[in-house]
Amino acid sequence: MLTRQSSVFFLTTFLIVLTFTLYCVFDVPYLATKVSPALPVVASILFALVISSLLKTTLTDPGIIPRPSNREAIEYDRQAQTLEPESGNRNANTPRQKVVNINGQAVKLKFCFTCRLYRPPRSSHCSICDNCVLNFDHHCPWVGNCIGLRNYRYFYFFITTVAILDIFIGVCSALHLGLLTTEKGTFIEALKHTPVSAAIFLITFFSIWSVAGLSGFHTYLIATSQTTNEDIKGTFNSKLRPHVKNPYSTGNCCKNIWRALCGPEMPSLLDRRGVIQSDIMVSVDAETFSRLSTQPKSPSPEPPEDPRMSLDREQISTDPPDEDIEVGDTECLPRNPFPAIPTPHCGTDSNGVKSHNYQENDDIEANRNTTISMQVIDPNTT
Ligand SMILES: [Zn+2]
Ligand SMILES: [Zn+2]
Repeated sequence: MLTRQSSVFFLTTFLIVLTFTLYCVFDVPYLATKVSPALPVVASILFALVISSLLKTTLTDPGIIPRPSNREAIEYDRQAQTLEPESGNRNANTPRQKVVNINGQAVKLKFCFTCRLYRPPRSSHCSICDNCVLNFDHHCPWVGNCIGLRNYRYFYFFITTVAILDIFIGVCSALHLGLLTTEKGTFIEALKHTPVSAAIFLITFFSIWSVAGLSGFHTYLIATSQTTNEDIKGTFNSKLRPHVKNPYSTGNCCKNIWRALCGPEMPSLLDRRGVIQSDIMVSVDAETFSRLSTQPKSPSPEPPEDPRMSLDREQISTDPPDEDIEVGDTECLPRNPFPAIPTPHCGTDSNGVKSHNYQENDDIEANRNTTISMQVIDPNTT
């Protein structure tokens, strides 16, 4: 699922293919005869694993959270009003948030005004993809996709196999140069005979530090059950927040690794064959509109709750946020837990018809797919 800025992905692919091609052309013929024919076979297998994991990372839905339909948004907004009776202006820029309890740890759910939903724990909105992503790790331009719940293991497999392939090709080119030096007598003569091998060695030598470092960093994250996003923010940093514990860690690094790499894969929440519905238009007369606008709001039914995620409402209305913890376990979350919509903007057309458009605040990115219009028909003008 390539994003808009996908040119770097093609550069990544080009560099990998170029390095492997140079190795096959300039190193393989010599090494296959002088050392072992198994060397190019191993390199080819590694190359196939790298390309397949790269494509899998790029083309897999990272865990995009679908936006609520207009009907859902209206209903959830009504429910949100009962949960936040003190917030008179729903379109205020003040952050909306809820607190849930996950394995004994209070976790905040922040409201995304672009997607019109409360982000599940560990989720974040990617400005490049313009979507909220489950278990958001980071947006990787090298693979042209977000790294999230559904493609993280492929990403990890990709960077790990790239590191192994990098080391393998580097060692082979060094071996080629070393054997030629023995044959020719001097290193300069060997270099004159196969300068490309030296170039391959330098490419792999300088790239291995970043690739291997990235692989090691993500191994640490998996072992401690963190995302890059959480690590950068220091969400579970024991020095910054000594009283905060990671509710997603099993406490055993082997179990964490097993769960991250070998656990069941969550199905995509996207309906790729779904039909985009047109905007909803509701027409009411001016008298009804004014009556509805001044009518006190009746309590709405309770929002559906996931049995594994309890909502602490007292904390929502009374407790000030003492921790900037945006952590959670997407396994225990319902789809779009409590989404809501912003305050509608009202206006009057030249023909006297009041338009009532639900749109995002100017400071917030507009939602392109969901616009609800309500027309108020003024009987004086008809
Ligand atoms: Zn969002
Ligand atoms: Zn992204």
